[in-house]
Amino acid sequence: MFDTIPDMAAKRAEISPDAIAFIDADSRRQWRFAEINDAANAVAAGLGQSGFTHGDRLAILCLNRVEFFITLFACQKTGVILCPLNWRQPAPELVETLEPVGAKAIIHDHAQAGLAEAVATTCGIPQLAIETDLAAWIEAGGERRSAAVDANQPWYLLFTSGTTGRPKAVIQTARMAWANAVNISQASRMTAEDRSVNFLPLFHTAGINLYTLPLFLMGGSSTVLPKFEPDQIFDLLKQSRVNQFFGVPAIYQAFSLLPDVGEIDWNSVRCGCGGAPLPEPLIRFFAGLGAKVLNGMGMTETGPTVFLMDPENAERKIGSVGRAQMLTEMRLDGVDAGQAGAGEIQLRGPNITPGYYLNEKATRDAFTEDGWLRTGDVGRRDEDGYIFIVDRIKDMYISGGENVYPAEVERVLNEHADVLESAVISMPDARWGEVGAAFIIPRPGASLDPDELRSWSRQRLAAYKVPVRITLVEDFPRTAAGKVRKPELRSMLL
Ligand code: ATP
Ligand code: MG
Repeated sequence: MFDTIPDMAAKRAEISPDAIAFIDADSRRQWRFAEINDAANAVAAGLGQSGFTHGDRLAILCLNRVEFFITLFACQKTGVILCPLNWRQPAPELVETLEPVGAKAIIHDHAQAGLAEAVATTCGIPQLAIETDLAAWIEAGGERRSAAVDANQPWYLLFTSGTTGRPKAVIQTARMAWANAVNISQASRMTAEDRSVNFLPLFHTAGINLYTLPLFLMGGSSTVLPKFEPDQIFDLLKQSRVNQFFGVPAIYQAFSLLPDVGEIDWNSVRCGCGGAPLPEPLIRFFAGLGAKVLNGMGMTETGPTVFLMDPENAERKIGSVGRAQMLTEMRLDGVDAGQAGAGEIQLRGPNITPGYYLNEKATRDAFTEDGWLRTGDVGRRDEDGYIFIVDRIKDMYISGGENVYPAEVERVLNEHADVLESAVISMPDARWGEVGAAFIIPRPGASLDPDELRSWSRQRLAAYKVPVRITLVEDFPRTAAGKVRKPELRSMLL
């Protein structure tokens, strides 16, 4: 798309210096675009004094806070590559994640000091604290920088969710960020008047790129919460201090169980959702309250926005993720262009990553010979061009010679009145090769009988898709984004 891109914080400070970019939810401190740029210049100077140069990696371990974004913009100014880490992971896992990337230092907040120290000691790197070192840099200030940046060099790295295996370090560039901003702002009709709330963890793409960074680029403002606190978010919504947010299905599930969910004026809020299959009963529940929860699909590798459902057709095409957005081309492997059918979703466009950091093999495997990203997800296009995510290819299994997509079985199970959530995996079977095993979280207060659920399913699913084993559980093993870790579920069957 572009070879160079203007320094984002400097440009925004030039265009709308006095508009509010960020609000810290706890302290209520407001940061104007000019203040964010000044602070980012100061942190850039501090990094330089600490010996950081272009291409060095800086790990960061903190709850969501405005200083994270300041550091991100400072990295853009200096070419230092930021590596946000997952504070839910224990130190040995973090070390394993970080070692192939090779960070020069780790910056952290007070709450993560112990974890950061363990990682720093094992990796033999120094620690920096946001509340002291970074604060001192910001206090001291730094010279103005506004040089354009190379659009395609690594700006920061994000690790995939680790749903199917070990997290992979995905290169994120300024070009990807802008392409994502175009995709999401077009799809969700974002303007400088919009106010969003940031609470998804910043070590995943959704935390940064849905909607916070795109909204920053558009000149709107974001209220930053340290983490997901449903009551705090509901307070902001009740006071109309935010008019849009992006969540993952687990977040809408949690909201739906709150006693005051009916007290929000849902009509005035734009709600996006993605990252995992969105159960249709949840879409209908929120539709009953006047909310249109728009299903979207993206990946760490895609910036992330690729698909977002349009509000006009959210009910008519319930379950769909809409169409590929403005800057992204999509094809379904094995399906003729524009035709209805199902196949692997393959993507091309400026929002797609150049690859996995220092991992040529994984990068090669992720792309087709003609340069399209293989998503590993099967999509189905209907006769009107709407895309439905079928499932991950890796999760499909074969029972008696028939392909079974667990997500399809889950969709049916989720329709049962006593089922809150379901997760289906395969298990070996002497007669059929593989059969389904379902884990079910019952609705609070419901008494669910597995035999009854099985016979209910038989009326709605082909016999080979009906789970042979049904296990009731309180929760599933999940990633930080609330996704079900199916490999762990598989080991629970052993
Ligand atoms: P890993 O690659 O480490 O196994 P991951 O694929 O879960 O983890 P992410 O990049 O966070 O890591 O997630 C992207 C994946 O999430 C997609 O490839 C797709 O499988 C799934 N996904 C995203 N949005 C949706 C959606 N709306 N419906 C169904 N699945 C979705
Ligand atoms: Mg993935």
